[in-house]
Amino acid sequence: MTHEHIPGLDLNNGVRIPQLGYGVFQIPAEHTQQAVESALEAGYRHIDTAAAYRNEAAVGAAVAASGLAREDLFITTKLRNGDQGRAREAFEESRSALGLDQIDLYLIHWPVPSQGLYLQAWREMEQIYSEGLVRAIGVSNFLPDHLEELLGEAAVPPAVNQIELHPTFQQQALADTSRRHGMAVEAYSPLGQGEDLDNAAVAQISQRHGATPAQVVLAWHLASGNIVIPKTATPERMRENLGALSVELSPRDMEQINELDAGRRLGADPATASFSQY
Ligand code: NDP
Repeated sequence: MTHEHIPGLDLNNGVRIPQLGYGVFQIPAEHTQQAVESALEAGYRHIDTAAAYRNEAAVGAAVAASGLAREDLFITTKLRNGDQGRAREAFEESRSALGLDQIDLYLIHWPVPSQGLYLQAWREMEQIYSEGLVRAIGVSNFLPDHLEELLGEAAVPPAVNQIELHPTFQQQALADTSRRHGMAVEAYSPLGQGEDLDNAAVAQISQRHGATPAQVVLAWHLASGNIVIPKTATPERMRENLGALSVELSPRDMEQINELDAGRRLGADPATASFSQY
């Protein structure tokens, strides 16, 4: 499975994003360059990082060392909560850490409604976008209230809402609202941080297809139209996860996984999350 097999999704401004990418949250900075080099070698072309992950420089080093053409790569990073009042400076810090002239996708990491700064941050991001320093801008962890408020003010509508989404936490209403407003839905923690892989129904479907549980869960995301960014530290699993691209689920398989939704959020609740280190 190589990058030629990874389907692209067209965002609302025509920019194409590889639907299956590689996330680097919780990979320590000293291991990130090697991990991203392995991911690129395995065939990934879309890398998801964030200023808060403290590994942007290592992602940039891996990109530089890969020798791949810049236009063949898609790099996402995110604005830290504590930086919403200084989005321009924070963007420049990320761009410089990554060593890139242009970022492909820049996201507001969390809305932090208690801070009241995301509209201000969005205006700065629109300006950065208009200067061509980023190819698309979007949000992460935005709930319908936050989306409504942003859309009421935005000159550039967000291209993406990156949200926690996996079989036991499907957030169908939020995904539908995001799509209705033209945003692509990007699923973070797509494997339920590994916990959704032990599910009996997932195991049953895996057996039917001669595939692994991770491949089945990722194939379900892809067939649902989600962008996915699974994280793994090991090259074997990087390749395994790319193998999801050749798993074709039946309508019955899809229905069986749709029925696993249990409202089981693993991460923080965006309505109240306010950690400034993010
Ligand atoms: P994932 O659902 O991607 O799960 C990662 C876990 O699954 C790791 O423990 C990994 O273990 C394990 N795993 C991966 N592949 C396999 C496999 N084939 N078989 C068995 N186990 C596997 O959760 P994350 O929370 O890491 O989310 C992925 C990405 O989403 C992050 O890296 C980040 O980019 C993004 N994210 C964004 C957030 C936001 O607020 N916007 C919040 C959280 C995540 P191992 O590494 O040992 O292989």
